Amino acid sequence: MSTETQAQYQFIDKIIQHHVGENTEVKDLEFFYGGNFNLAVRVQLKNSDEYFIKWNQGDHQGLFDAEAKNLDLIGKTSSISVPSVMGTGTMEEKEYLMMECIPSGEKAANYWVDFGEKLALLHKNTSESGHGLDYTNFIGAAPQINTWNQNGIAFFIEHRLRNQLVRAIYDRKIDAELEAKFETLFEKLPSLLPNEKSALIHGDLWSGNAMTNPQGLITLVDPACYYGFREAELAFTTMFGGFDESFYEAYHANFPIEKGFHERIPLYNLYPLLVHVNLFGEGYLPAVKKIVDSY
Ligand code: ADP
Repeated sequence: MSTETQAQYQFIDKIIQHHVGENTEVKDLEFFYGGNFNLAVRVQLKNSDEYFIKWNQGDHQGLFDAEAKNLDLIGKTSSISVPSVMGTGTMEEKEYLMMECIPSGEKAANYWVDFGEKLALLHKNTSESGHGLDYTNFIGAAPQINTWNQNGIAFFIEHRLRNQLVRAIYDRKIDAELEAKFETLFEKLPSLLPNEKSALIHGDLWSGNAMTNPQGLITLVDPACYYGFREAELAFTTMFGGFDESFYEAYHANFPIEKGFHERIPLYNLYPLLVHVNLFGEGYLPAVKKIVDSY
């Protein structure tokens, strides 16, 4: 075992001891090195209990505390399954999140229908405070400012689009010409989007965050939730594909949306696209320009 691996084993052992108690011998570890900045491990103890631990180098303060709150918030709605949280903390200057491990299963025949129904149930949770959330959370490594606003379109413009736009302008990824086009689009948005009441959404719903649990059904991981436009969530699912048609049919049967959604998808997806420009680079800019130019 290399010194580095040994150090990782000891690090994980300390977290387990802190949250589960002493005399908990680790039987097996499976490391996940995703494309992201977080590292993760599936831990199996001698008594067969399993946990999933994510950590980073301590350079994203508050990220896992927010993720734990996100998971608890969605979990409390009892609408759709998410892993339960064991705890968060700092160990050896690294920040971590320890949660229930979700072993992967095979999709049941009704996986997509069940998923669509449960997402509709989640979205039926609304907030009297309007659009937003009580705390700042993160989508990937990007902070999401969630200052409440009763007006969903104003929230979407200010705290989703403009917030990312400002960062991209600051980083010189977006020039004055494109910025001006965004401002024109912002003026038009109230006539382009239905100003629905807020819905609790997962916020980062791509297929990589939709797991299949041992019952063959949906468990969501890695939420970037807030009370916002549920259409934005549905639009997000189309960004990288992978969601079955029966998922959408089941969703719409349980919680219909206004006509014309397909034309609105690009507008909602400006947000994740701008996040991608800021986090991963200018490769995502042509897609942004194409949408803004078409309005
Ligand atoms: P990141 O925040 O680094 O993107 P994710 O939370 O998306 O990490 O997790 C990365 C992958 O790890 C997921 O796609 C999923 O396959 C797996 N995973 C996440 N959470 C759990 C869990 N609680 N139990 C088992 N596997 C998990």
